[in-house]
Amino acid sequence: MSSLPEGTLREARIDVGAIADNVRHLRRVIGVPVMAVVKAEGYGHGAVRSALAALAGGAERLGVADIAEGVALRRAGITAPILAWLHAPGASFVEAATHDIAVGVSSMAQLRAAADAASARRPVLVHLKLETGLGRNGIAPAQWPGAVAEAVRLERAGAIRVEGLFSHLSNTSPEDDEAALCAFEEGVAAARELGLAPALRHIAATQAALSMPEARLDCVRLGIGIYGLSPFEDRGPETLGLRPAMTLRGSVAAVRRVPKGQGVSYGYTYRTTGPTTLALVPLGYADGVPRAASGRAHVAIGGARYRIAGRVAMDQFVVDVGDDPVQVGDEVVLFGDGARGVPTAQEWAEAADTINYEIVTRIGPRVPRSEVAS
Ligand SMILES: *Cc1c(COP(=O)(O)O)cnc(C)c1O
Repeated sequence: MSSLPEGTLREARIDVGAIADNVRHLRRVIGVPVMAVVKAEGYGHGAVRSALAALAGGAERLGVADIAEGVALRRAGITAPILAWLHAPGASFVEAATHDIAVGVSSMAQLRAAADAASARRPVLVHLKLETGLGRNGIAPAQWPGAVAEAVRLERAGAIRVEGLFSHLSNTSPEDDEAALCAFEEGVAAARELGLAPALRHIAATQAALSMPEARLDCVRLGIGIYGLSPFEDRGPETLGLRPAMTLRGSVAAVRRVPKGQGVSYGYTYRTTGPTTLALVPLGYADGVPRAASGRAHVAIGGARYRIAGRVAMDQFVVDVGDDPVQVGDEVVLFGDGARGVPTAQEWAEAADTINYEIVTRIGPRVPRSEVAS
């Protein structure tokens, strides 16, 4: 790991080569076209750099939640197909249409809004979403035939072009996901009977794409895996051939030699058990370091691991480094590629009782992202 530039408190180092390699690997293993999901600033890695890296690694298309996220990709010059699937109530799709962004449609109202956004020049691209049990958005099975019939009518009128049919799985159990896939396939068959058979049927995100081959269909929507993290609680990324793209690190901002019995950080939930050295790490919960990981998560300094001592504060936390020769300016790695011996986002997730998705996605805006390509 290269050392931090002088004067740097903290940074998230993003290895775009890892993102490209992860996509290349997943594309080969899964064997169907990849929609790289770069919502929420590319899961905290940066949306544009993640999108470019994913496309370089062979992703065919991009997925985002909000249309505005898709527009930001277009403004950065990205021309690959984009799908956006989460819309404000009453949203107009004019901006999506202007920027050639396909919209996920979850209701009759959204279907009409898509048609209303069409210009004489070009129909609006639509992926119809069927609700298959997740309980979020999507057209209810009872409304599906009506929505499909309306989509067929609007497509014939030249207002929309239905590119895809999709749904999303709950990852609750293989049985639940099989039932949802079955419901989706019934919806696909019903649509075909009504004259709608678009080329892209998609339901799998990373977990199902890897564990449920029958769910791969025409395309998979891969998020967490492209960033080199595992969607499985019991399997690390290395077992999937993936390399974590984000390393979160900082510089030791202060060291202090203290006696036995020194309380550390707010509330003194940690007290030293003998004379020792405390090192101050300048990242806190404002930077996405979960306060719930207080006293639990580990960092790496100079090849050794140290547990957080006491509470994580807004801007900083402390580690007790014993008699080790830690100095101001030393690199502290909070998490990165476990293959390099540093803690992982997965370990932080366990320490904070959450999932690795939340660990990387919540890295705050005060943390500069730097980019490398290994
Ligand atoms: C976020 C999201 C994905 C990607 O999920 P991963 O588990 O990160 O692969 C796929 N599809 C939809 C609809 C999503 O919201």
